[in-house]
Amino acid sequence: MANFNDSVYVEKMCELTNRLYGHGWDERNGGNVSLRIDAEDLAQFDDVKQVIRNIPIEFDATALAGDYFLVTGTGRYFKNVIKYPERDAGLVRIAKDGRSVDLYWGFNDGGQPTSEFPSHLMTHIERLKQDDNQRVVMHCHPTNLIGLSFTQPLDEKGLSKLLWKMQAESLVVFPEGLGVIPYMTPGTNDIGAATAAKMAEFRVVMWPHHGIFACGDSMDETFGLIETVEKAAMIYTTIQAQGGKILQSITDDDLRDLANSFGVVPNPRFLAL
Ligand code: 13P
Ligand code: ZN
Repeated sequence: MANFNDSVYVEKMCELTNRLYGHGWDERNGGNVSLRIDAEDLAQFDDVKQVIRNIPIEFDATALAGDYFLVTGTGRYFKNVIKYPERDAGLVRIAKDGRSVDLYWGFNDGGQPTSEFPSHLMTHIERLKQDDNQRVVMHCHPTNLIGLSFTQPLDEKGLSKLLWKMQAESLVVFPEGLGVIPYMTPGTNDIGAATAAKMAEFRVVMWPHHGIFACGDSMDETFGLIETVEKAAMIYTTIQAQGGKILQSITDDDLRDLANSFGVVPNPRFLAL
């Protein structure tokens, strides 16, 4: 029998939290990640069979009752997860009544899931309606995207087109664009509900003056989505540092050509084909 500590799930969590930290997007305890794991895939590990303790959650997650999540802990530093995964992350299962989680592995110094767990779980619930393979929710604080939330109108069409035009990859990676919520207090059910509502249309949502929420079928895909959005924002920052005068750019027709070549459908609210 294998140990969960040696699993690909813990290995990937360690690798990506470390990379997110390396990017400078997760200062101190900033950022959180949750990964949905199938019960069948946990059967091979003999150290995830006993409930260690029960942890109450602040909202009703009945829609996910019985589902397992590997999730980072509240107050934990991404730079440390790679060294102490069993302390700074935990494997939890949503209890039958949806009001608490059972801990099966991790949080071994008494920790508990991220304060953004309501936003994560509400996002998983919404995305599972769109995509049976939805597995990952990732939140971090990418510097250049946060910068845009101060200098640009908080308008989904304007921001999506700005990011699409900064590099050819953007439209291909996030053809539905960028969702935007108003500035809201972190860690609340309200920001979770607003984020999840956006996830009906988008896989990536800006939290103005705070960060980004993204989801996907795998850790790599979700991380890649955030990297692509932030790279586009960084190019915009670089343009401003070079004086801000744009002499030539990707046009709307270029975006249409890209969409045709790569077989993606841009959000019709932002670009008509
Ligand atoms: P946690 O430490 O609770 O995960 O919170 C970090 C964060 O980024 C809040 O938005
Ligand atoms: Zn945050």
